[in-house]
Amino acid sequence: MKALVIVGDGIADRPIPELNGKTPLEVANIPNMNKLAQMGISGLMDPVAPGIRAGSDIAHLSIFGYDPFEVYTGRGPIEAIGAGIELRQNDVAFRCNFATADNNFNLLDRTAGFIREGNEELAQALNKLQLESAKGVQLIFKVSADYRAALVLRGRGLSPKVADCYPRTGEPIKEIRPINRTKTAYKTARILNEFLKKSHEMLKAHPINQARIQEGKLPANVILIRGGGKLSKNMESFSKKYGLTGACIAGCGLIKGVFKLMGFDVIEVPGATGYIDTDVDAKGQAAVEALKNHDFAIIHVEGSDEVSHEGMLEAKIKIIERIDSMIGKILDQINLEETYVVILSDHTTPISVKDHTADPVPITICGPEVRKDGVQAFNENTVVLGGLNRIRGSDFMPILLDLMGRAKKFGA
Ligand SMILES: [Zn+2]
Repeated sequence: MKALVIVGDGIADRPIPELNGKTPLEVANIPNMNKLAQMGISGLMDPVAPGIRAGSDIAHLSIFGYDPFEVYTGRGPIEAIGAGIELRQNDVAFRCNFATADNNFNLLDRTAGFIREGNEELAQALNKLQLESAKGVQLIFKVSADYRAALVLRGRGLSPKVADCYPRTGEPIKEIRPINRTKTAYKTARILNEFLKKSHEMLKAHPINQARIQEGKLPANVILIRGGGKLSKNMESFSKKYGLTGACIAGCGLIKGVFKLMGFDVIEVPGATGYIDTDVDAKGQAAVEALKNHDFAIIHVEGSDEVSHEGMLEAKIKIIERIDSMIGKILDQINLEETYVVILSDHTTPISVKDHTADPVPITICGPEVRKDGVQAFNENTVVLGGLNRIRGSDFMPILLDLMGRAKKFGA
């Protein structure tokens, strides 16, 4: 038995007045997700636990069988691994945004207008910056996808214990402060503040940004830095834990990082590296191929969360429909007698809140011998009546493993 898990990042929502109190999943045209709900067993899932507002990294760790309270050491290292940096044990890693600051150094746009082009050249220039405060410390800056990137400080006497630099839009971009009184935190804050200042000066004058301004686009003239952390020690691999080989198909650096940490093969799909314009059908095809030589595959689609953070309702519905059409093409090619197909959301990202909330998410498991329930449609409201009832993220792998015939018996 094999399994394919499809994660629509942040597709779950709350009732929306413009939709007459319905959610995007309820109004979207999603015949394939609904078909899976009709053939499968559904329910609601709290990604971590009721009331916990999970980040995507935490939610994925929890759903795929890792206790985030035990293994999570900050988002920076995950972003760095996802970006392809070979992280070492004492490296301090941060996640970064290319963003736009106005003339008074207030934050104008947290994504530099969703910059997609020229970011690699800007990253090269950032790697050449010479910082006085960073003697003996190597700086590695790498794009993970679109406007997102990772910054790694490698050297002695460093600490991840510094405050984030991530103001709300319109607010001033402040200096990074140490959050404890150690020498290492002070040193790290000094390096990051010099990086923040010098990178701003360099980026403002960079030809790529000059050209962006000419074209009426927002310049990527500042780097926001947050989520400092170090590599977690000794995380057991997914294959060792469950005896299943795993493949991950994702465009988002953070998610790639999470699955690399779990020991998955992360499959790069050309055309599916960005967030909003990602080629979801290519992802589906890559998963079908990956299932030929892996037991377990996961497809992650980030775009739905991105547009939810921006409050873009129409775009959210469209991305949900694109995911559905991808599922249709997958279902044409795989045998549901041999493969479990799961649809879920890693957390709720309501359009009204523009951030993650703790509302439980819909989940459907379809495949051989599942106890079909009466659920006819895949959305936040109908799955409440499903046979899974309400589970936690940490229940998901045990339930799936049992269906796959891989659960160990407890007792005689
Ligand atoms: Zn997410």
